[in-house]
Amino acid sequence: MKILDHGFVRIVEAWGGGDHQFTPEALAKAKKDYEAGIIEAARQSTQGSFRGWEKDAHLLNYLYTNKHATPFEFAGMVLEIKCPMFVVREWQRHRTQSYNEMSARYAPLPNENYMPTVERLMMGNDKNKQAGTIKGSEPLTDKQAHVFQDTLQAQYDRFEHNYQAALQAGVPKELARCGMPVGRYTQMRASANLRNWLAFLTLRQAPEAQWEIRQYANAVADIVQEVFPQTHKLYLENK
Ligand SMILES: Cc1cc2nc3c(=O)[nH]c(=O)nc-3n(C[C@H](O)[C@H](O)[C@H](O)COP(=O)(O)OP(=O)(O)OC[C@H]3O[C@@H](n4cnc5c(N)ncnc54)[C@H](O)[C@@H]3O)c2cc1C
Repeated sequence: MKILDHGFVRIVEAWGGGDHQFTPEALAKAKKDYEAGIIEAARQSTQGSFRGWEKDAHLLNYLYTNKHATPFEFAGMVLEIKCPMFVVREWQRHRTQSYNEMSARYAPLPNENYMPTVERLMMGNDKNKQAGTIKGSEPLTDKQAHVFQDTLQAQYDRFEHNYQAALQAGVPKELARCGMPVGRYTQMRASANLRNWLAFLTLRQAPEAQWEIRQYANAVADIVQEVFPQTHKLYLENK
């Protein structure tokens, strides 16, 4: 799923099938069920098992609405994400996810940088304090937005020029990156259980979250909806 100008989110793997995924009926199905394991985890208390969604949709609903949250830790997924470094910095505040990221210590980062559109730059919305402009600033004009874009592009170009020159001159990669702009794209894998993906969505799909990470959170929500449809429905209904 393409996001911003050079980014993406894609699913690497999901889990949550429980024992049920190895029954002959489940193995015969083209589409996997990644939510049966949630029911199995809940039934561990009575040594029961999954009984099919006709019978167990009600239990899933009961668990969700009554905040019996731990069974939702028995499903989850790994995503691969390409996003600007400032988005990674916000994302990795979610400590219950596990991460591995591309390292500019080991390989120079490709020259791909985020350029906000003029439309995006004009979103300075005073109602959202975090997205607002500084006190006393003029309303941003179309012309000034273009000036900002040109200046930013020049900064990106200058950094890239200095970066390549430093690498060629023998400066270690881990130090040549010192002036790297936070708009530069990087890539990471993030792994979390379903409970924590939903917590991530609650915080990062909210209007207070920065617009850029919200675009990623919306893409994550689409994946959650595809892979864990019943839980995603409960998430929306109980938001
Ligand atoms: C709109 C918005 C604005 C933000 N602004 C800022 C900002 O200005 N500055 C800033 O530094 N951060 C900011 N953050 C980041 C925010 O403070 C959280 O770090 C981030 O949202 C992750 O939330 P979390 O701690 O609930 O998630 P996780 O780290 O995934 O934790 C999930 C849950 O696990 C539990 N938990 C995890 N670790 C601990 C722990 N050490 N102790 C106790 N319980 C724990 C908590 O119940 C927590 O809710 C902002 C976030 C948002 C959404």
